[in-house]
Parts: sequence; structure tokens; C-alpha cells
Amino acid sequence: MSEDYRVAAEDQGFMVMLVDDQAIVAERIRRDLLDAPHMDFHYCQDPHEALAVAGVIRPTVILLDLLMPGVNGLDLVRAFRENAQTRHIPIIVLSTKEEPRIKAEAFAAGANDYLIKLPDREELNARILYHSRAYLARVQRDEAYRALRESQRELEQKNFELLRMSNMDGLTEVANRRRFDELLQEAWAHSRRTRSPLALMMLDIDCFKPFNDHYGHLAGDDCLKQVARTLQQELPRLTDFLARYGGEEFVVVLSATDLAGAQRVAERLRLAVEALAIPHACSEAAKVVTISIGVAAAHATASSQPQVLVAEADKMLYQAKHRGRNQVAGVDCILSAEAVS
Ligand code: GH3
Ligand code: MG
Ligand code: MG
Repeated sequence: MSEDYRVAAEDQGFMVMLVDDQAIVAERIRRDLLDAPHMDFHYCQDPHEALAVAGVIRPTVILLDLLMPGVNGLDLVRAFRENAQTRHIPIIVLSTKEEPRIKAEAFAAGANDYLIKLPDREELNARILYHSRAYLARVQRDEAYRALRESQRELEQKNFELLRMSNMDGLTEVANRRRFDELLQEAWAHSRRTRSPLALMMLDIDCFKPFNDHYGHLAGDDCLKQVARTLQQELPRLTDFLARYGGEEFVVVLSATDLAGAQRVAERLRLAVEALAIPHACSEAAKVVTISIGVAAAHATASSQPQVLVAEADKMLYQAKHRGRNQVAGVDCILSAEAVS
């Protein structure tokens, strides 16, 4: 692993930037680094340009003279540290001064190393190599973290999408049967806790088999999508819940709604589908696509299951079909009083 990093780092190459007003120092260091492999050298004579130049050439280490005309070297160290682009680039201060206090000040300002001018060639090379490698390792680590965070974000997004899809019917994009089963349980429990009524309706497209036979399966799919979209639009309350029950059947759960209220909603849904005016040449109910709806309402009890509502709504749907389709039929389910929790 560390070997891999070393190869990768050296593949990238090192860039040494020297900021010093004396060209003679630059010449010496250029010569010292001449034989070093993977080592580029850039000389910046004007300290006022140092920050901008570093932003462009992106050095892996900066050699910085402490005494330059018109510029305090320590201020420049601090400026490098405050700049986002150069914040982490190692700085080796070059100075003629040996005083421990000045050295301490340099480190406090943000320098990473301190060398007395002019440093020995071998030592200079070793320190440049050490700091450059540490810097490149840091850059690689930061990049790896960034990539990790990015892929974690993507994964979260995908998981969210997966969850959404596992709850959704692929054709109509309303909730699927699985989600319906979960939500009905929740609505049932809520009705029990709050002693509020719960209504459920089963909706079935009238004469849909002949529609498919006459207009084709693709037109049938399109009709299902339009009907689902219309039903969804007609149910703006957050507590009302639409799902595809299967085939051309849909189911709606209305929390805190009694039979009379649910029948009014059902009638609104029936009219909205009729108003879509999708031609249906071979329906027994109308000249357009229509739906029949069975409604059942109850107060949930501890000893009963929500499936009783499904079964009763289904019976009512059968009745609506039997009476000529394109209509609503409903029933109040009285669950045994002693079982009310
Ligand atoms: P009724 O008025 O009594 O409900 O008659 P119907 O023809 O609608 O009822 P039936 O249960 O006989 O037929 C339902 C049809 O719904 C059968 C099938 O062709 C169609 N169907 C079910 N699921 C889909 C689907 O995903 N796409 C399409 N295009 N058709 C479907
Ligand atoms: Mg049908
Ligand atoms: Mg059916």
C-alpha cells in the first residue's frame, strides 16, 4: 500500500517553488535539484506575486525566504495559510538567522520546516522529498474521502429511489399493493386509537376486458395511467391514500371519514373519470370509460382486522356492477361493540 502510494506520488512529480529576492540563491538551488528525479523547479523572485503564482503552478513544497525587501516573510507564510488553494502546501522557511525565537515564530505562523541558508544539497533534497510526499499523500487522502462521501451520497440517493420504487406500481406510479397493505394497517391502528371512522373504497374500471380487446393492450395501459392520475388529483388530502390493488382495480383509504363522507368522495371520483371522456365503444355502462365503486366504513376494533373493510367494499363493488356499473354502492360495517378497545 505505501509502495503503491510512493509510485503514484512520484508519477505525479514534485514541484518546488522558491520565493526569494536573490537570484543567486535561486541559481544554487536550481543546480542542487538538477539531478533529482521527478522534481520540477519554479523560481518566483517577486514575493508580491508568490500567492498568485502558487495558485497556478501548484507546488508540492514552497521554499520561502524570510527576509525580502518590502515583505515580511512571516506575513507571507500566514497569507499562504489563509488562502484555500495553498493552505496545506508545506512551507520550508529559508533564513540566515539561527535564533530559536525566530524559528519558533516561523512555525507559529504556519511554516513546516526551517533551514539555514544556504542548506546542504543532500539535506535540502531529503527535506523537499519528505514534505512533498507528505503533501501528496494528504491530497490523495482528501480526494479519497471526497470520492467516498460522493459515493455514499449516491448510495443514499439510490436507496431512497429503491425504497420509492418498491412502494410504487410501475405502470400507474401510484402506491402498489404491498404499500397499501402497510398503510391500511397503520390507518386501522389510527382509527382504533382515535376512535375515528375509517372508510375504504374499491374501484374497478367497467368493462375493461372489452376495452383491451377493442383498442389493444397499449391503449388499455394508457387508460389505466390516465384513470390513476385523475383519481390521485381528486384526492388532495394527505390522509387520503390511493393504491393500485391489481389489474384494473384501485383502492382508496380515507382516514377519519364516515360512510356519508366517503360516498361523496366516491361520487366525485366516479364523475372525474367519466369526465375524462375516454371513448369506450363496447361498454355496457356508457360511451366512455367509467368506474364502479364499492365503499365500506367502520370504527376499527381490537378484535377485528382491516381485511373486513376490504371484503365489505368488494361486496359493495359487486353490487354496483350488478346494478348497472358506473355507480357507487356503500355499507356501514358495525363491528361488535364489546370488541371496541
Ligand atoms: P367489469 O365491468 O365487470 O369489471 O368487467 P371487466 O371487463 O372490467 O372485468 P374483468 O375482470 O373481466 O377484466 C379485467 C381486465 O383488465 C382483464 C385485463 O385484460 C385487464 N387488465 C388487467 N390489468 C391490466 C393491465 O395492466 N393493462 C391492461 N392493458 N389491461 C389490464
Ligand atoms: Mg373491471
Ligand atoms: Mg376487475
